[in-house]
Amino acid sequence: MKVLVINAGSSSIKYQFLISETGEVLAKGGAERIGLDDAFIIHSKSGPEKVKIEVDLPNHKEAVEKVLEILTSTEYGVISSMMEIDAVGHRVVHGGEKFSHSAIITPSVKATIRVCIALAPLHNPANMTGIEACEAAMPGVPQVAVFDTAFHQTMPPAAYMYALPYELYEEYRIRRYGFHGTSHGYVAQRCADILGRPIEDLKIVTCHLGNGSSIAAVKNGKCIDTSMGLTPLAGICMGTRCGDIDPAIVTFIMEKEGLDMKGIDALMNKKSGVLGVSGVSSDFRDLYAAADSGNDRAKMAIDMFIYQCKKYIGAYAAAMGGIDAVVFTAGVGENNDDIREKAVEGLAFMGIQIDKEKNRGLRGTEANVSAPASTAQVLVIPTNEELAIARETEKVVKLLHEST
Ligand code: AMP
Repeated sequence: MKVLVINAGSSSIKYQFLISETGEVLAKGGAERIGLDDAFIIHSKSGPEKVKIEVDLPNHKEAVEKVLEILTSTEYGVISSMMEIDAVGHRVVHGGEKFSHSAIITPSVKATIRVCIALAPLHNPANMTGIEACEAAMPGVPQVAVFDTAFHQTMPPAAYMYALPYELYEEYRIRRYGFHGTSHGYVAQRCADILGRPIEDLKIVTCHLGNGSSIAAVKNGKCIDTSMGLTPLAGICMGTRCGDIDPAIVTFIMEKEGLDMKGIDALMNKKSGVLGVSGVSSDFRDLYAAADSGNDRAKMAIDMFIYQCKKYIGAYAAAMGGIDAVVFTAGVGENNDDIREKAVEGLAFMGIQIDKEKNRGLRGTEANVSAPASTAQVLVIPTNEELAIARETEKVVKLLHEST
């Protein structure tokens, strides 16, 4: 099935057009600066060559129309007509408690995505704009919503409830949801495939370590806990997000620094994490360069990140009653051998031993980097959220066809 995968942000639309069965990417790119001056589309067919096309993109609808025009053009295109697009898969960040699976987009699904705007005010409105733009540009083509939160909906209440007055859960659905679910689900399944064992028999800790980072405990194919919470601010410290802190710090800082809600929100989301601690950068490449030239705060930020990662691996092994595999994925997890090595250092007591030689220098490729004596496997698995979204889309569309 030829699926167009759409990841819409507030002023951008990333797209990938691929064959869901094989994973072959026919074209990909992104429309940037939508609604602003100097908008452009970066587009590439299979292969590394990219073109930058400068165009007027006053809104998301016109951006989608332009992308479709490019996909069907003689110069840059890969299909002769829009009829060749079998379905569109949309990344939707928050599906609340309603969606434990992907869903064909209907008016009632859209209404629920809108209700979830309260839980993801930055992401869900942009995702909705992408959906509506595609509906308008491709009437009749099935549209599917794939939620970042869906994979985590199997968590039990003991893992997802916060110890706040229960009425707040009833009134506002304040609870842990978790994010990066498409990525955690994809790498957990890939891990089982690589190990040649059914996922139903495995206890896996998946570490999605990027600019935003989250860790999940996947027991017998189901998520039983994850580090992000009601929002993507919780869990291990990240590029610019603080992760778990004593909640009393929030009001303390607001009072001492005279910050209002917007101010504290920006401080915790944009000025904290390894950027805030190091004062150098949110990018781990910059942090390593600074640490190598003697910057102690950069080194401390890296150490904090590794330590918190290790704590979650241990906690989730305890939560699952054992561990068969640890998976590293996303920008840092796929590319940074030092963080992988140190995040599992000293965990031989729970059966985790990395092969330092195999791990060293490994970047962006699938590999089992466990030492022969390790009873739990350590794997590096590049994530592929677009392919996961395309496969989900295919599954939902096929079910729809079967039921009609
Ligand atoms: P992501 O949010 O998944 O794109 O990850 C971004 C993070 O991945 C940044 O902190 C980068 O430092 C890190 N990263 C990406 N590529 C590399 C690389 N080739 N080597 C080391 N770190 C990388």
